[in-house]
Amino acid sequence: MLSARDQELIVAASEAIKGRYRNDWQEVGAALRTRDGRIYTGVNLDAYLGRMAVCAEAVALGRAVTETGETGIETIVAVRHPEPGDKDQAIVVVSPCGSCRELIWDYDRNARVIVPSSNGPAVAGIGELLPNKYSRERTL
Ligand SMILES: [Zn+2]
Repeated sequence: MLSARDQELIVAASEAIKGRYRNDWQEVGAALRTRDGRIYTGVNLDAYLGRMAVCAEAVALGRAVTETGETGIETIVAVRHPEPGDKDQAIVVVSPCGSCRELIWDYDRNARVIVPSSNGPAVAGIGELLPNKYSRERTL
């Protein structure tokens, strides 16, 4: 079961993408709570040149770091808005992509991540989502 604080983050991410949804351009919303308790949201930035696209989680983290400095990520979640014509019109929790898993880990190795599961949204540690993370150090 998610806590009320976790549900609050899902609502914040959902509201962010509801307000900015544009088919093929802004489809994912994210919300994170910093270690000092502030909530930041973001939406993804798709781009004509695909490699320039930025995930919603990175936008939310960028806002947090810009506005308050690096305060760590207590919990983060991303949600996807349905496309026009989708049978199921619900906004749903989605897993962070591999790049975002790296990014989240880099900013907080103990971050909690709300991910989809067969029983609805659940919490996983970023370390569980990123086993054997790449490191520049030669430690095993
Ligand atoms: Zn991503």
